[in-house]
Amino acid sequence: MVGDNRAMSNDLSPRTVVVHAGRPAREPDAPFSVPPVLASTYVAGGPVGYGRYGNPAWDAFEEVLGELEGGRALAFASGMAAASAVFALVPPGGRVVAPAHAYSGVLELLDQLAGRSEILAERVDIADTAAVAAASRGAALVWLESPTNPALEVADLAATCAAAHEAGAIVAVDNTFATPLLQRPFEHGADLVVHSATKFLAGHSDVQLGVALTRDDERYDELARHRRLGGAIPGPMETWLALRGLRTLALRLERAQHNAAVLAERLAGHPRIERVRYPGLPGDPGHERAKAQMDGYGAILAIEVAGGAAAAQAVCERTRLWVHATSLGGVESTLERRRRWASESPTIPENLIRLSVGIEDVDDLWRDLDDAL
Ligand code: PLP
Repeated sequence: MVGDNRAMSNDLSPRTVVVHAGRPAREPDAPFSVPPVLASTYVAGGPVGYGRYGNPAWDAFEEVLGELEGGRALAFASGMAAASAVFALVPPGGRVVAPAHAYSGVLELLDQLAGRSEILAERVDIADTAAVAAASRGAALVWLESPTNPALEVADLAATCAAAHEAGAIVAVDNTFATPLLQRPFEHGADLVVHSATKFLAGHSDVQLGVALTRDDERYDELARHRRLGGAIPGPMETWLALRGLRTLALRLERAQHNAAVLAERLAGHPRIERVRYPGLPGDPGHERAKAQMDGYGAILAIEVAGGAAAAQAVCERTRLWVHATSLGGVESTLERRRRWASESPTIPENLIRLSVGIEDVDDLWRDLDDAL
């Protein structure tokens, strides 16, 4: 039973909501956390009915995310499953405007859907609000990611949502990099919010999970139907683990973000670095926008290493503390040259390394990186 704390978020900080929402009712001997219910089959007559239709851990996790973002949440098996459910809202042949740079899996999925003539897909520089507005005319959906993976571009969320709505399109924002503690896209006019909960929300590199949120009941029902019939449901144990990780999001993010800011500044003065991309740096093209619409700049940055692809790859393979790995948002610092993947956009520089900054001691992280450089 979850929900006695509902609506408490009106006057509480998200840092408090993330700790207290989605708890069982405060009754004698009630556990603090919803226990994992490992069941596919339930006795008939109750509200759940079957493992593919619901689970107490989903309810708890969704309640926390819903309160944080200010919408109704649905948990999915992965971030990609959540994105797929959102794309399924696009009518056949409808046009989707997407960022030129975004998580490559999402862009690949859009290309695949377009290749089968299920949708039309168009890419645009999402930092260029006028270009997004122009592309929105006649579009069904504008998909934004801000900041983008891995180029750290920042969209003007309010202006882009207003322009898209004016043009008759709805807007979905992948809020994975920011998390609802740093950015709440519904407040800027977004219609849908998506997360790879695999990253910062779960936070410990041991869970694959996604979330899609909306404020519209009809869209919520459509997304829920897609999950029920498409079957991309999260496991009860994964959801429980993600909820456990989520409780410390504010603390993890605070430390990781602090580390990222320190490293960004030091890296900007490093002779082997050609460019640092981090919206927290005053000279970054996305700085002013991020300052206006976010409550912090996050824990992801990207560097471009002198000496091209080979030099950047060598840095990734030389670190001892930083783990050479894809994915991001864990307590452990990881780094990756994104163009090592054939699916990464060819306009992402070959020498770009994405850094996901963890919660370790910042001077240890710096020494390791400096040695590798
Ligand atoms: N969105 C962003 C910004 C991502 O970085 C990722 C994965 O890296 C995804 C979505 C996809 O999430 P998942 O791997 O949980 O399917």
